[in-house]
Amino acid sequence: MRLVFATHNKNKLKEVKALLPSYIEVLSLTDIGCNEDIPETADTIEGNAMLKANYVRDTYKLNCFADDTGLEVRSLNGEPGVYSARYAGEDKDSEANMQKLLQNLENKEDRSARFKTAIALTLNNSEILFLGICEGQITTEKKGTGGFGYDPIFKPDGCEETFAEMKLTQKSEIGHRGKAMRQLIEYLSE
Ligand code: IMP
Repeated sequence: MRLVFATHNKNKLKEVKALLPSYIEVLSLTDIGCNEDIPETADTIEGNAMLKANYVRDTYKLNCFADDTGLEVRSLNGEPGVYSARYAGEDKDSEANMQKLLQNLENKEDRSARFKTAIALTLNNSEILFLGICEGQITTEKKGTGGFGYDPIFKPDGCEETFAEMKLTQKSEIGHRGKAMRQLIEYLSE
């Protein structure tokens, strides 16, 4: 089975390829010659995942899955949420995003947060959505060099390490994207 994963992000592609069984051949947007940035104009994580999957289906006539992830911080009323990539500006700078979040949390006691991943699958004219959630805390400083995005400042509940200090396999086991991906895989295996 061939499926497009609607991403340009090499880190995500690596995470996802490591999870999928070998009978599913994953093609990235680069592999299918899609070099544009697919518009993410919905105001929810679920809506953006759907937009991306539908774009590939409609433009390239290919089965596809797309993910969208947001970090929701409780004491900031769910911010940065759907704006996680552009929290500190249009250039999607992870360092600046983390600095802004740490600053905004300086005087807050409650540092609880959760990552939410929505995966939208378009397969032979059907559209299905899968959700994965990982609860945790925002640390007071960055730790670790692995992963990407907010990984150095997110510590999942029950763990002593941030996502950026973990091996990729451990992050996938407990993380938001892994949880949503396993639902996708189960569905595709039925
Ligand atoms: P996207 O729309 O799924 O690319 O995610 C939006 C933003 O959320 C990214 O630019 C990252 O800053 C952040 N993000 C997504 N997934 C992760 C993750 O697994 N760890 C840390 N940050 C993430």
